[in-house]
Amino acid sequence: MSGLPFEAFRPLHDCRVRSGHAVNVAYNCDASIVAATRFQMLDRCQGRGRGTWCTLWTDKEFRTMNAVTPELLRRFDVPGPRYTSYPTADRFVEAFGPDEYVLALQQRRLGSAAKAVPLSLYVHIPFCESLCYYCACNKIITRHPERADVYLRYLSREIDLHMAHCAPGQAVSQLHIGGGSPTFLSDDGLQELMNMLRRSFTLVPGGEYSIEVDPRTVDAQRLARLAQLGFNRLSFGVQDFDPAVQKAVHRVQPAEQVFALVQEARRIGFESINVDLIYGLPRQTPESFDRTLAQVAELRPDRIALYAYAHLPERFKPQRRIVSAELPMASAKVSMLSRSLNAFQDAGYVYVGMDHFALPDDALAVAKRQGRLHRNFQGYSTQPDCDLIALGVSAIGRVGATYSQNAKTLDEYYDLINQGRLPVVRGLALTRDDLVRRSVIMALMCQGEVLFEPMEQSWLIDFRRYFAAELEVLGGMAGDGLVTLGDDGITVTEMGWFFVRGVAMVFDRYLQADRTRARFSRII
Ligand code: SF4
Repeated sequence: MSGLPFEAFRPLHDCRVRSGHAVNVAYNCDASIVAATRFQMLDRCQGRGRGTWCTLWTDKEFRTMNAVTPELLRRFDVPGPRYTSYPTADRFVEAFGPDEYVLALQQRRLGSAAKAVPLSLYVHIPFCESLCYYCACNKIITRHPERADVYLRYLSREIDLHMAHCAPGQAVSQLHIGGGSPTFLSDDGLQELMNMLRRSFTLVPGGEYSIEVDPRTVDAQRLARLAQLGFNRLSFGVQDFDPAVQKAVHRVQPAEQVFALVQEARRIGFESINVDLIYGLPRQTPESFDRTLAQVAELRPDRIALYAYAHLPERFKPQRRIVSAELPMASAKVSMLSRSLNAFQDAGYVYVGMDHFALPDDALAVAKRQGRLHRNFQGYSTQPDCDLIALGVSAIGRVGATYSQNAKTLDEYYDLINQGRLPVVRGLALTRDDLVRRSVIMALMCQGEVLFEPMEQSWLIDFRRYFAAELEVLGGMAGDGLVTLGDDGITVTEMGWFFVRGVAMVFDRYLQADRTRARFSRII
């Protein structure tokens, strides 16, 4: 990197390196021509002397970011799975039920995984006080807090059903409470939930313990309580700061309220704060969304998740309340996405991968640079692939080579537990082909690279032959600059990262089968 003229670098924001380490950075990057303060630091300085852990965004990389034009987004930002699992949840089958799930738990208990790798836990709290019209989640709208008390009792019984097949006191390094709105639970309810989890599992120090927060349901005191309960990560649902948009989607939460909460969360010392945004909502325009983006840049959360709104009123009943005529046109959506990428880049965020951005020193951004990124049902994660026990209505888990999903309605969930049965109603035992493809898709989504030789050794396949058809399709993407195909493997380019979902979809056998079926039905 040394020897490049200063003009070759574009500083994105002031260097965040502590002054004591600035010299190292400057040395690595040829201090004779630039001052350390002109660099964007892409990793936390380890103070190990001259290393390569501090890098710059070169002008080439900067151009690549800017090369993600609305035209490219229109062509390649295709709807498709988010690959929080492969095969995706819509491929689960009812032939997989509690018996199959218990078998997977028993095999886990007998194998080495139970001792060697900490578990992940997910708990679904389905209740919300009011309905957001864009909602596609599994939730129950109620103003009766006592419904949560009943639910917690069933959750406790579900944990007991699991514990009949798990070693007690299993180490857990990752916990996520999602919903619905987990903060629908009262402080006492959350305390009870954490107590019951701690009775059966050991939450290890240094783990990631996160909870989704509806800003309308918390105040400073509640945030402090969440920290006392052991949560160290918060995710705030913001979606859009524009009052007109908030009104159109029936989720009114003043920006000042969110700013005050985030400030308080920082003061309390939460390790990471995420903000969820959605583009494509009614009454949003590229200009109005620009204002939200500027406010988010000012708010400066550690992570940002930016999702596209998919209007599917025939599938998701709440969306029928959205006035279709108020939805932005497709071209406006593309413009919003494109402006978001630029705004986050200008604010110094790193594009982690599909929908996710993080500050350069956030654990996710660091993990991406160090090739340690993983993906699970909560999206990107720094925690190694591990088994996930999912608790609560509709929750999806992963144990060994299986996925499982609980009953989607409260009635069915309660009914199965009353029968003394685990409430698993569908799932999948992965085939060898599923496992091979999962490892390829996750390598693409997390590392942006698939190396042929390790894959061939792990799975005893001839990669080029096994994936001959897929490599042919990727040839076209290579022509568009999204991937490079080398003798050793496949690499997602800087620009390809923005379309990595489309690259991964090439390896999805179920989508291939769908396309073949669709072609076949058109022919006949
Ligand atoms: S978007 Fe979230 S808070 Fe709103 S109704 Fe759906 S689950 Fe509840």
